[in-house]
Amino acid sequence: MEVIAVPGLPEIRPGDDLAALVADRIDLRPDDVVVVASTVVSKAAGRTASLSDFEPGERAREIADRITALTGEAKDPRFAQAVIEESEALVLDAPFLLAKTRFGHVTVNAGIDRSNVPEADLLLLPEDPGASAQALHEALDVPVIVSDTSGRPFRHGQRGVAVGWAGMPASRDWRGEADRDGRELGVTVQAVVDELAAASNLVAGEGGGGTPVTVIRDWSFGDHAGSDELFRDREADLVRQALEDWTYEDDS
Ligand code: GDP
Ligand code: MN
Ligand code: MN
Repeated sequence: MEVIAVPGLPEIRPGDDLAALVADRIDLRPDDVVVVASTVVSKAAGRTASLSDFEPGERAREIADRITALTGEAKDPRFAQAVIEESEALVLDAPFLLAKTRFGHVTVNAGIDRSNVPEADLLLLPEDPGASAQALHEALDVPVIVSDTSGRPFRHGQRGVAVGWAGMPASRDWRGEADRDGRELGVTVQAVVDELAAASNLVAGEGGGGTPVTVIRDWSFGDHAGSDELFRDREADLVRQALEDWTYEDDS
């Protein structure tokens, strides 16, 4: 498998036709997968915002005060308000905001970015990354994944994850297939869209590289059942339930 950065993409502006910009710069093959950083999907959709757009409510002010007291770093209540407005629920509110977006992805600050955003304070995640992926898939005629750099519990560092996808299942379902000893696999559902998003992110980079779109070439889903379940429901997520019940106390 190869991961190829699409060269020469410009700074993306509201209203830009991302599919056309990509198609003009690379000859896609029928079995390619295109991975697009959510940053440029958001820019094309005009999902920038100013802190002054957000009028902090009581909850945002209370959370910002608590984060400031816990961390010793001033938290802007307008930023807390932006995260609340971009979220369906807060999994944690202090010492940092861990939010569930309306489309199901749980991430710090609801994925609101402050880097690679000229001329604005904030860049919000696409409103519906699955719908964005679908539109790009229809225009490009290959599977499309919309990715974001995201942290993860239990480990330092961030990596790429899929926030939307179209034209392929989210996961390979290995259940019912055999291991090398013929033992039937009972639980393995491989989140291939996350694995491809991580591979893409490795090539796209994080800083000023200017390569928000990659093409995954010579990879194949193979002969497996597919699943589109990626985001866990609260009811099935014991870790999330435990976090929501947890209160941070600074005992340093
Ligand atoms: P995120 O992971 O989706 O939040 O995206 P990042 O901000 O980490 O950017 C991923 C890659 O896209 C990096 O190589 C950036 O330099 C690049 N990038 C971000 N915005 C633009 C843009 O408007 N145009 C181009 N050409 N590259 C961009
Ligand atoms: Mn991001
Ligand atoms: Mn990134």
